[in-house]
Amino acid sequence: MHPISTHESNAKLLTDLKSGNPVFYPISQTKSAKEVLTHLPISHADLITASQRLQRWSEALTILFPQLQANQLQSNKGLIESPLLTLNNPESVTGVAIQGKTLIKADHLLPIAGSIKARGGIYEVLAFAEKVGIEQGLITENDDLTKLVTPNAKALFANYRVGVGSTGNLGLSIGLMSAALGFQAIVHMSADAKAWKKALLRQHGVTVIEHTGDYATAVEAGRQAILDEKNAHFVDDENSLDLFLGYAVAGLRLQQQLQTIGIVVDKDHPLLVYLPCGVGGAPGGITWGLKQVFGDNVHCFFAEPTASPAFLVRCLSDSPVSVYDFGLINQTEADGLAVAQASELVYELVGELIDGCYTVQDNELFPILTALKDFENLQVEPSATAGFLAPKRLQASLQDKGILDNPNATHLFWTTGGSFLPITEYKEFYQRGESTY
Ligand SMILES: *Cc1c(COP(=O)(O)O)cnc(C)c1O
Repeated sequence: MHPISTHESNAKLLTDLKSGNPVFYPISQTKSAKEVLTHLPISHADLITASQRLQRWSEALTILFPQLQANQLQSNKGLIESPLLTLNNPESVTGVAIQGKTLIKADHLLPIAGSIKARGGIYEVLAFAEKVGIEQGLITENDDLTKLVTPNAKALFANYRVGVGSTGNLGLSIGLMSAALGFQAIVHMSADAKAWKKALLRQHGVTVIEHTGDYATAVEAGRQAILDEKNAHFVDDENSLDLFLGYAVAGLRLQQQLQTIGIVVDKDHPLLVYLPCGVGGAPGGITWGLKQVFGDNVHCFFAEPTASPAFLVRCLSDSPVSVYDFGLINQTEADGLAVAQASELVYELVGELIDGCYTVQDNELFPILTALKDFENLQVEPSATAGFLAPKRLQASLQDKGILDNPNATHLFWTTGGSFLPITEYKEFYQRGESTY
């Protein structure tokens, strides 16, 4: 599809990529979104089913998490959703003047997990709980799911294990939801995972196993540990359709939120979405969901650290590759994005749907983190700032910079985590950004 090439245009890109310089890689897709979507193994019906599952869980979730009573989408209590905000000072935050509308999809405020992982991770745990509930005769198909949050159900779930490998946030999401339902939860953390995330999980009774290796090592260890176990489910971040579909529901939710504030997305009013990317599941699922809703009128760009451009190198290659193959080290302060190799499943689903990838240096993230506090009063983690570098990268790209001057365009920056950061951790990041403003 996008062969790793000796292709002229990619030569400079490859040199920059290998030397750790930020790059912008636009992908001009040859097929329409509709054409691509019809040939994928999942369909619009699957998106609706996933959305309905979360709807069916809403009452049960308000029992487990009373904070879900008062939700942004008032009509939808019990939904785990984030607000759609206006980026009031785009130039102060991104360093670039933008003519169109600028919005923030504030997933750093997602309840329960405090990151974008609340979408896919929690969805998959709920799907597993339903499966067990049906197998054990607690519920029937499409039954009242409040039956799964009773002391009785909890006692039964205590015989089941849920495992996951993570750089931190997925572990938080899976661990906190599993523990709330009563499952035994085991989280395998990579070396990147922050101490506070492990501590928080342990406080909730989750077993945390620490690994000295990278993200893929933690995932593999978690997978092996649970492989032969009965009564166990492994949330496979590298290869899970449930995770993907959970993320994708964001497409429907965003459509509704844009409608509410009167923002039109059509041929003359393009929507550009900037998504921080690790293994690809979250940005990939959201891209697929958005393409289902807006087709070719939405343009999705993935942002990755210069040390970990896993999705970008996959897009450049004919077969699975890791950033290590390009001499990169996968060491970054953006711990949520510290992934060396993209999910092959996600690549197959969205490789022909995304509009481009770009990379960001660690030292570019902190000034944005600080500016988001100073100008927008938002507390995000370093990974969640990567989307805001898009205007800079677009500006440097000859063919794409015109989009920044288009008054009809809407630019949407996805903030993916940070509201759970302990204040001492956050202050360090903030100060680091302050000194490099
Ligand atoms: C996990 C994560 C992402 C990216 O999601 P992937 O599914 O790994 O691509 C982005 N931002 C934050 C804060 C994350 O935790």
